[in-house]
Amino acid sequence: MRGTVWFVGAGPGDPELITVKGRSLIERAGAILFAGSLVNEAATRWAPAGCEIADSKDMTLEQMAAWLIERAARHATVVRLQTGDPALYGTLIEMVQPLDAAGIPVAVVPGVSSAMASAAAAVESFTLPEVTQTTIFTRVEGRTPMPEGESLRELAAHRCTLCIFLSITLLHKVETELRAAGWPEDAPVVVVHKASWPGEERILRGTLATIKRQCRDAGIVSQSMVIVSPTLGSRHWPELTRSRLYDPSFTHRFRRASVPGTPAPEAP
Ligand code: SAH
Repeated sequence: MRGTVWFVGAGPGDPELITVKGRSLIERAGAILFAGSLVNEAATRWAPAGCEIADSKDMTLEQMAAWLIERAARHATVVRLQTGDPALYGTLIEMVQPLDAAGIPVAVVPGVSSAMASAAAAVESFTLPEVTQTTIFTRVEGRTPMPEGESLRELAAHRCTLCIFLSITLLHKVETELRAAGWPEDAPVVVVHKASWPGEERILRGTLATIKRQCRDAGIVSQSMVIVSPTLGSRHWPELTRSRLYDPSFTHRFRRASVPGTPAPEAP
């Protein structure tokens, strides 16, 4: 038997935020290796009786690959459950390479990233017409060095939305870099701790000048998304440039304009 190893995005924490496909793979898994430190164990609640379930938190990458390869020899469906989406700051490629070398089929099921769960928790939009149409997923330099051209200072110069992962203990660096990029002291910053985790989610709203102290006072030192964006708080703006897609004067493929003065449609 040669099973498939499925890398499944478990979502940001709320067990209901796994995809239907991810859940049905868990329901028929012969073995599940989950990232214990981050993935809510509840994500394994749908595993069938007799499923081998292991926590990878004390394993090296080599041990994880060996575990998956060994289980794929015995089970048709082996699941590696990862936090959020597997394509962001996971060790997807490092794990896929040894599986490829062993000739084991691999597939990936996307998950709800904590960036999206954080936006949802705070009722924020990363894009707004004529404010910003771009979102950057990044981090500040910790033990993993940033490639050239990707310092927060350089990225922040775009004045678009920044979702800063893995950086809650490095807020001093976030502040220094944003200031160096010219963001004002009153630039809004939102920190979402444990987005979507039932009963544990916390949302702090502050500014470049205040957010570090707010996080310290609240004791927030882990599992948090830092969002910096010119769109933050737009729910309360009195004047908003509306998206043209829903504008009554705008015709597109699915709807004729109900008022005259229709601009040329944009490709959907
Ligand atoms: N693949 C994951 C990210 C893993 S890196 C994803 O797509 O979300 C781990 C970082 O993700 C943490 O340092 C934190 O910045 C962020 N994170 C993970 N879960 C989170 C949550 N529930 N709420 C806020 N941030 C979270």
